[in-house]
Amino acid sequence: MARRLDTYLQTLISEENFDFYSTVRDFTDNEVAPHILQWERDHELVPESCIRKMGEIGLFGLPIAEEYGGQGGAQTELILMGLAMGYHSQSVAITPGAAISLGAKPLQLCGTEVQKRAHLPDLAAGKRMFVFGLSEPGRGSDAANPEVTAKKVGDDWIISGEKCWSTNAKWASHVIVHAMTDPDGAHAKRSTCFIVPIDAQGVSYVEMSGKRVWEQSSTGSIMFENVHVKDEDVLGELHNGFKVMVTTLNGGRLFIASLALASLAFALDKTRVYAEERIQFDDKSIGRFQRVQDVIIDMDIVLERNLTWLIHLCRLYDENRLSREQAAKVKVDSSRAASELIAMAMEVCGGVACLDEFGLIRHHNDVFVTRVGEGSNFALKDLIVRPLRKG
Ligand SMILES: Cc1cc2nc3c(=O)[nH]c(=O)nc-3n(C[C@H](O)[C@H](O)[C@H](O)COP(=O)(O)OP(=O)(O)OC[C@H]3O[C@@H](n4cnc5c(N)ncnc54)[C@H](O)[C@@H]3O)c2cc1C
Repeated sequence: MARRLDTYLQTLISEENFDFYSTVRDFTDNEVAPHILQWERDHELVPESCIRKMGEIGLFGLPIAEEYGGQGGAQTELILMGLAMGYHSQSVAITPGAAISLGAKPLQLCGTEVQKRAHLPDLAAGKRMFVFGLSEPGRGSDAANPEVTAKKVGDDWIISGEKCWSTNAKWASHVIVHAMTDPDGAHAKRSTCFIVPIDAQGVSYVEMSGKRVWEQSSTGSIMFENVHVKDEDVLGELHNGFKVMVTTLNGGRLFIASLALASLAFALDKTRVYAEERIQFDDKSIGRFQRVQDVIIDMDIVLERNLTWLIHLCRLYDENRLSREQAAKVKVDSSRAASELIAMAMEVCGGVACLDEFGLIRHHNDVFVTRVGEGSNFALKDLIVRPLRKG
């Protein structure tokens, strides 16, 4: 059965891009799909052997320039990876996704030449992984005012505090720490980003327990106890670290939208096939009921509409013309629509949708993260409304 995702992508992207998408789709069909249920039942993170294979097919270097050892690809390729891999598992897809769009990206956007040469080749090869250290136990949406501090003492900066919800913490080589450096500065001009090695003295990590979404993705709390770093570890401008973080999140939000649509694409295929196979009343399929058809039609419309929108925004991103509002809107709309429709898809499938082996419950749970991750949808509306209030 042809995936509806494939049908739409064929009309939206170049042949070269579709070949790349097919490579990641086949990789995921072979390396992830046959194992994901067992990984879930065993509460296992993505195995390191699987991450290594992702590195071997070049996924970690996708949008990194060739001069730094990457594939020199564009945002579209990153999104295609999210769609192809997220179709079976968002939590597997977010592993390279966060490594690229949240870990390596700030370095690509704001790093010095020395920092880029020091890290990007190993990041592109999958030998290192950077973690995006924005969120804290006391600072989620209010991220411009970190409680983690970095104080200048002599030649050193001394970092203290805790980051949480750090995706890929288990595999991290470094953390990009967003820390308060000038509490008396103007709003959003009080913080600085630092590149901190995970094995620096005073850094410790613990995997967060009890998470029932993105189960195969590592999510850690990272503690900093008087960790010493130098001026050359500052990423971007001093006291302008929030800009580094929010600029990075523009691309990240496009990736999150791709995960929401990947889950929707899976749910659509699963539901339309099941609706034809499930026989109830008079030896006929439930696919003949118009209320069932309505759910399937709505999923199909949203998938085609938002894929078209997302691919368009990827092109704007590559041309440096994507606004923060545009990235926020496609993330808000895709995540909200996908989660509402996946809940409806489960209702169409009935009791069987509650079984892990059916696959829908995984996407139902994981799609929730796309509503709160990289800016909760409610908070992002503050951003979206700004141009609407200018008159
Ligand atoms: C699985 C997972 C992985 C993550 N990975 C990372 C990572 O790698 N790095 C990282 O830094 N962070 C990461 N995060 C954190 C994520 O970005 C935050 O959860 C998100 O920013 C929201 O913050 P919060 O959860 O503290 O919610 P809060 O800020 O406490 O907000 C709670 C709720 O309050 C409401 N709200 C908040 N502000 C507003 C507002 N202005 N207007 C209206 N309503 C509002 C919303 O409903 C919101 O959902 C991850 C989170 C999850 C769940």
